[in-house]
Amino acid sequence: MEPLTENFQDTVKSLLIRHQSVLDILTKGQEASARVNRAVVKSVTSCGCLAIDAHKKPIPENATLYDLKALLDSNVQGNLCDNCRETIESELGKQLFYIAALANTLDISLDEVFEREMKKLSTLTIFNMT
Ligand SMILES: [Zn+2]
Repeated sequence: MEPLTENFQDTVKSLLIRHQSVLDILTKGQEASARVNRAVVKSVTSCGCLAIDAHKKPIPENATLYDLKALLDSNVQGNLCDNCRETIESELGKQLFYIAALANTLDISLDEVFEREMKKLSTLTIFNMT
C-alpha cells in the first residue's frame, strides 16, 4: 500500500490545476500559514476557548536544560472548543495541501522528508534542542 504522504501528494497533483506556478504555490502556502495563525488567534480573541498567559519567566542562573523544560511552557490555557478545533484543522489541511504542492513541484517526496526528520529527531537529546 502506498504511504499516506505519497497518496496525498498524488491527490494534490491531480487537483492542482489553476495555481500550478511555483509563485502561486509559494504565496498561497504563505497565505495558508497566516490563516492557521489567524484561526488560533481567533480562538483566543473571538471565541475565548483558549487564553494566552505569556510573560518573561525568571530563569535561575544555574538552571539546566532539564529545568528549562519544566519552567517553560506553551503559554496556552484552556482547550479548543469543537468549532475552533474544526477551523484550525481545516486551515492546517489547506497548509498541508500547499506543502505537498511545493514538494511535487520540486520533485521532493514528503515520505522521505518525514523519514529524514524522524531519524534526526530520534538522535537528538534535550542537550541539543535549543
Ligand atoms: Zn473556540
